[in-house]
Amino acid sequence: MKPPAVKYARAGDVREAVALLTEHGSDAKVLAGGQSLVPLMSFRLARPSILIDINRISGLDQIRVDNGSLVIGAMTRQRDVEISDVVAAEVPLLPQVLHHVGHITNRNRGTVGGSVAHADSAAELPALVTGLGGELVVEGPNGTRTIAAEDYFTGTFTTAMEYNEVLTEIRIPRLPAGTGVAVEELARRHGDFAIVGAMAAVHLAADGSVDLIRVAASGVASVPLRLHAAEEVLAGAQPTADAIDAAAATVTASVHPTDDVHAPASYRRDMIQLLVKRAVAAAVERSGVSA
Ligand SMILES: Cc1cc2nc3c(=O)[nH]c(=O)nc-3n(C[C@H](O)[C@H](O)[C@H](O)COP(=O)(O)OP(=O)(O)OC[C@H]3O[C@@H](n4cnc5c(N)ncnc54)[C@H](O)[C@@H]3O)c2cc1C
Repeated sequence: MKPPAVKYARAGDVREAVALLTEHGSDAKVLAGGQSLVPLMSFRLARPSILIDINRISGLDQIRVDNGSLVIGAMTRQRDVEISDVVAAEVPLLPQVLHHVGHITNRNRGTVGGSVAHADSAAELPALVTGLGGELVVEGPNGTRTIAAEDYFTGTFTTAMEYNEVLTEIRIPRLPAGTGVAVEELARRHGDFAIVGAMAAVHLAADGSVDLIRVAASGVASVPLRLHAAEEVLAGAQPTADAIDAAAATVTASVHPTDDVHAPASYRRDMIQLLVKRAVAAAVERSGVSA
């Protein structure tokens, strides 16, 4: 199916995009890479009154390091992030995660900001930003504000952004050198949305104990989850098989999956425990001890 006819406006800068969103109200939609929005329009699941195209706004596609964080402009294409040397050095979990996001053709067009703003709790990037304690910078009529990822995702496809705000930057704390990272997903085919997914980052101290751990899950609640309880079991501990089992055992109490056509909630709950265990074990295995 083709999308219905829709009005279109191209914003020259973020301020103009905000003004257009304010003028047209909550039925207006920002158009980024179109990889989620256009299919939704084709299926008549989204019927915006007007698309505000932000693709030509300059400066929204930069990748830089600032004050301990990797900063990614919202319009940076997912593929550019996946192959960036800076990203690989600062947040090596990110290219690994992006490898699981659809196919290269989607990632060539799809933007990091679009995935985050779309707020699908089954998607990888929202889980990564949440798990690593990231922040989202948004601009609206009253200026710019920064929202912690755990406050940004508020429900299924909903965020703390107002209808007339534009996501401009994604800020992710850098991971120390030597951090091991891993992604584990259950998907029917490579490139499909995962039914459930887990990701982990682990850094070890010189004595082999865990001095940094981040664990996140997708597809197990209405929002992406950072699994704090699992992290707390391992923080400061030796990452033995028993300790990793104990961390993974906390997961079933942290998640709130629902039944759907892909899998019942009970299956998702069981699988996420297994995938967290595998992701943490692999991250430990891959970690070095350089700070
Ligand atoms: C075949 C296929 C397979 C896919 N598989 C996966 C997968 O496995 N995992 C996964 O995570 N995703 C997957 N996706 C979705 C893909 O990652 C999308 O690119 C992404 O979800 C949306 O990014 P976009 O730039 O295309 O945004 P768009 O589709 O243009 O926009 C998405 C939504 O975000 C809003 N928006 C976009 N940018 C901004 C902004 N800067 N400020 C405010 N609002 C904004 C739009 O208004 C819209 O509501 C798949 C897509 C396809 C077509």
